[in-house]
Amino acid sequence: MRKLSLLPGNIFSGVPLDRVDHLRADDSWIKSQLDNPASRFIAVWNQQSIVFGGAEPRAALNDRLALEGWLEDWAEGAAPLALLGVTPDESAVAHFAIDLSHLPEEAVISRYAGGALMDLRESVQLVPAPEAAILAYARGLMYWHRKNGFCAACGHKSIARKAGHERACTNTDCGAVHFPRTDTAVIVLVHDGDDALLCRQSHWPAGMHSTLAGFLEPGESLEENVAREIFEESGVHVSDVRYHSSQPWPFPASIMVGFMAKAASREIKVDEKELEYANWYNRDWLRDVKPSDDFRMPGEYSIARRLLRDWIDGHFPT
Ligand SMILES: [Zn+2]
Repeated sequence: MRKLSLLPGNIFSGVPLDRVDHLRADDSWIKSQLDNPASRFIAVWNQQSIVFGGAEPRAALNDRLALEGWLEDWAEGAAPLALLGVTPDESAVAHFAIDLSHLPEEAVISRYAGGALMDLRESVQLVPAPEAAILAYARGLMYWHRKNGFCAACGHKSIARKAGHERACTNTDCGAVHFPRTDTAVIVLVHDGDDALLCRQSHWPAGMHSTLAGFLEPGESLEENVAREIFEESGVHVSDVRYHSSQPWPFPASIMVGFMAKAASREIKVDEKELEYANWYNRDWLRDVKPSDDFRMPGEYSIARRLLRDWIDGHFPT
């Protein structure tokens, strides 16, 4: 059994920026960076971002000129904006995300000649991995701002603070402060000798099969979450739960925590509310199978695919 190689990390991790938490509350520094022609702005429109096509597609990391007239929308509260971080070199170029979903699609795209709005599941397959990580970070943070305009404690309006990394309630009697939320889910490659347990959900693309996954509940450890989800969805008991790796999953706001687990029982009894079916798939068959509308694995960029790839190649966490 070969040892798992933990590097490189999963796609969407490895944001190539220093998050500079210590500068987020420095309003004069933030203002100077917003005015700085070197600063970069990642536009988000309804969770999509802009990609320039061509032989080597790139994410749009434009300067403030592309946003002429729209930074005022941010100042007036219509356009969420957040500092993502600065490049970890002497130039320390600030990178901001700005959500332009309040504008018509044509107005946004017309500022980016040769660019197209694209969902992250598509752009991740085109742009360099560090840029995909920046787009994922921007998308996740902007989604949180768009969904949290009102205080969850009292219902009054909330406003962004700390360069877009928290929101404060405007009701002085309440004063609640809210932080970006990430929902934890486990995703598990269950193995039994040369077989792996894969499932299918009816709403997935044709032929798509994947590992089982589910959200963590309050009062539950990750290991308990693994055992519960696998049993609830497939009727299979597991043992020897081993952590593999994790992946930010901004669809819309999760982190996928990846595990491998040994099956302690083999009989499958699916929860038909959750799954269309589940089945055991042989390692050699999985290694050789060609993707088709009858069977395909999850996207190359997903942790589900990495779990499968590592298991097929005999890489196990120790
Ligand atoms: Zn409140």
